[in-house]
Amino acid sequence: MDANLPQYEAYALRYATHERTRGDNFIAGADPHDASMPMDYFVWLVRDGARVWLVDTGFNRAAAQDRKRTFLRCPIESLSLLGVSPEAVTDVIVTHLHYDHAGNLDLLPNARIHIQERELHYAVGCNMCRPIFRAAYTADDVVHVVRGVYRDRVSFYRGDAELAPGLQLYLIGGHTDGLQVVRVHTRRGWVVLASDASHYYENMEAQAPYPIVYHVGDMVAGWEKVKGLAASPRHVVPGHDPEVLRRYPLHTVQPADGKAEIACLHEAPSR
Ligand SMILES: [Zn+2]
Ligand SMILES: [Zn+2]
Repeated sequence: MDANLPQYEAYALRYATHERTRGDNFIAGADPHDASMPMDYFVWLVRDGARVWLVDTGFNRAAAQDRKRTFLRCPIESLSLLGVSPEAVTDVIVTHLHYDHAGNLDLLPNARIHIQERELHYAVGCNMCRPIFRAAYTADDVVHVVRGVYRDRVSFYRGDAELAPGLQLYLIGGHTDGLQVVRVHTRRGWVVLASDASHYYENMEAQAPYPIVYHVGDMVAGWEKVKGLAASPRHVVPGHDPEVLRRYPLHTVQPADGKAEIACLHEAPSR
């Protein structure tokens, strides 16, 4: 921990889930029994007092129906559980433009979008002629960002960058060409919101790539980079692992439906 840096709060908020098997989650395929391995969908909120940074924006109910995901709640409306209104979100870090990370931008009227230039280039370039690469993108999400460029609502980064003291972006690539992760300084030291640099703890720990991937070598190198940025392996937060809600202390306020969906990433996990 660095005493000279702010200590941000960081939260993971689950908004959707999907029942699937291990074979869906590793490039080398299924284990013999192809056991259940569900996927959770999160947005993350980082804040230092009144200053709020939303990391990714999730998808909406219509997208969930299209892609047969179980929609639990609107991630943007759910920010109210953390005392944050949509209008108060002035900065959104988009780790990458996949449908489950970059929907709902239309619900954030005052947001500036922080993204790697390379990700937008990838999302509008020749690779999107190829179904294997475009499958996890939704054209309307990408177009929304392009329109934002013309309205001066987008900040581009070319590689690693510092957004504020104790809040940094790192270009990883791999999963998509312009994927970035967020390094945030908390009271337990540097935490890395890995997003889809590692969907599950197991992708990174077992060196087993997730099957949606643009460049496997960059994905593998990305795990090393992420580990190097975090204070310890217990400071890396994977993008889609249901374990996150089990390992981290839960926020005191949770949704009215009684489900425990908001985890405090600035507090130590159980393991
Ligand atoms: Zn993704
Ligand atoms: Zn994802």
